[in-house]
Parts: sequence; structure tokens; C-alpha cells
Amino acid sequence: MERDMKVGDISQYVDVLTDNVDFLNMNDENEYTHPEFNAKVDMENPIFKLGMCFSNAEEFRKAIRNHAIKNGRKMRFVKNTPNKLSAVCYDGCDWLIYVSKVQREHTLQVKTFKPIHTCNRALHVPKISTKWLANKYCDRLRNNPTWLGASIKKQWSLRIAKATAMSMIIGNEEEQFWMLRSYCQALLDANSGSTCIIKIEQYQDQCKFKVVYICLDALRRGFVEGCRQFVGFDGCHLSSSYKGILLAAVGIDGNNQMYPFARAVVEQETYKTWLWFISLIVEDLGITNSENSKYLTFLCDKQKGLVQALANLMPKAKHRFCLRHLYENFKLHHKGVELKKLLWKAAMATRVCDLTWQWKSYN
Ligand SMILES: [Zn+2]
Repeated sequence: MERDMKVGDISQYVDVLTDNVDFLNMNDENEYTHPEFNAKVDMENPIFKLGMCFSNAEEFRKAIRNHAIKNGRKMRFVKNTPNKLSAVCYDGCDWLIYVSKVQREHTLQVKTFKPIHTCNRALHVPKISTKWLANKYCDRLRNNPTWLGASIKKQWSLRIAKATAMSMIIGNEEEQFWMLRSYCQALLDANSGSTCIIKIEQYQDQCKFKVVYICLDALRRGFVEGCRQFVGFDGCHLSSSYKGILLAAVGIDGNNQMYPFARAVVEQETYKTWLWFISLIVEDLGITNSENSKYLTFLCDKQKGLVQALANLMPKAKHRFCLRHLYENFKLHHKGVELKKLLWKAAMATRVCDLTWQWKSYN
């Protein structure tokens, strides 16, 4: 017996226990003296021992799967019931484990254990499933959802594993829509003075989500009291299975940093939805008439309906277009780095003479 006996050392002497005798001994303080499998610590690399106790059958199955994957072994269950489980290794290998239920408890105890593998390490371990991968990388993806980004494009199983892990983290999208009302109520409870509006459409006995608008009171006050007189509007497509458009209103704080203070989710980006979104912002910011909006500057990307909605609601405010967006159209007909630089310089010019000088220097 010169082979490595780290796994289940005592099995050299005792390796089979009768099914009817529980291999549990109590010490003076009435605690089990036999090794207990601690899923939190031991699950990463399970090491089995004779007499070891598992909380339940599911924990034991998971431990077997992880042992197979960690050690590159093809394993299978020859007995698989909630009370009795037995796993063996393929290809006539000697490795074997048998657990059965302790009397009057849910605990499963290792009653038979042959720890030595006489097989070779397998190249393909069938127990690596997408579910196993999803469980393994769940915590890592929770901290960094973009992890595994481009590298998994061609690997279908990894993509499924990532999608499974993300659904475990984020939850079911449909269920989240049902929680929207409670979420808004929780926001209102914790931030009194906030505005949360949900609109639904009633179809017979079913409700269909239409739009939601959220502006937290602390953000609103922060904008009114501490930000520049500037509001940028933008919309982007949501990539979830229910699609929709996210509308956002962003200010600029004293450090010239972006300050998002209101957002909404709508079905489509139209004149009507922009008008609804902006009129709610106007109300939240206390812009009661077009006179007190004249010191504000609004910026947009020429989105569908937005320009018209802004012009109708606040005709006296200053309206500007995002240069980055203008440049995207500009470069279709006027290519080149020099023209790009010139456009930015022209946009940064604060006096007419500066602008004229830029054009002259180009000509
Ligand atoms: Zn084996």
C-alpha cells in the first residue's frame, strides 16, 4: 500500500460498515466525532472519508460531481435514491463510495469507501454541464457582468452557461416587471418627495406595462441647488427580451461631471413619449412657465420627436445639438482628421472672430 492514501486514510483498516450500524460516535458534549462535510469550504475540492456525514442527498451528489471534475474522472451513480446513494468510477476502476441515511435523521453517512483510482485521468469529463459552469462562475459574474465577454462568442455552451448565471443573478425578467410596483413604492417610502409613475394598459383581466418614470427627490434637489443650468436628453434601446427605450435626463455638476437625475422606460421613442417625459421633468424642476426656463440650455441628439417636443414645451430656453452626433453625420460626406479637428475647434469658439479665424486658417 505505497500509493498516495491522502483520501480516506482509515479505509486501509476499515472500509466497509454495515448498513444497519450508524458510524456516528458521540463525545462527552453530545457532538458527532466523525468528519462532517462543510459545503462552503469542502465543495470546491471534495475529499471523502469513511464515516463522513453529508446534510442531504443533493449535497452528496454535488460533491461527487465536483470531485469528478476536479480530478478528471468519469463517474456515475449505480444507486441514486434519497436514502441510499452509491457512485463508482468508469472503466473497472476500484474507486467506490456508498452513503446511506442515518437512522431517524436526514444525514447521509459514508458507509463504504474505496479511495484509490486505478483508472487514468479522463480528457473529457461529462459532468461539466452548463448549469455547473453557471453555478461556478455566478459570483464572479455578479461582480463583473462583462467578464467572458468576447471570448465566449464561438463557444455555445459557455454562452448558455453565462446566460444561466446571469438569470440566476438578475432573476426572471417577467417576474421583475411584476415587482415594479413594489419597487416604486419602496423608492417612495425611502425617498419622500420623489416622483415614480407607472402606466399600464388593461386588457380584460390582464395588465400590460406601458411606461415608468422615476425621479428621486435627492437627485432632483441636487440638480436644482447644485448643477449648471443645463439638461441633456438621450434615449437608448434596451437589449432585454422585452425591448423598449430608456430615456434619461442628465445634468452637469460643478465639477463638469455628468449628473443623471431622471429616467423613464417607454415602448417607443416618439414625439408623444418625449413630450410626456419632458413635461414630468419640467414639473419636477418647478419650471412653471416659459419665462423661468429661459436660463436653461437643453441638449439633444436630434432624436425622433424630441426637438419638436422641446420647442413646444420650452420655446424660450436655449436648444443645442450634441456635436458628437452632428460629427457622425458630418463625416459621412467630409472625411479626414483635419476636418474633424476643425469642426471641434469651430464648435469651441466663443466669439465670431475666433470662428472666422478657424475657417481662414483652413482655406
Ligand atoms: Zn477512477
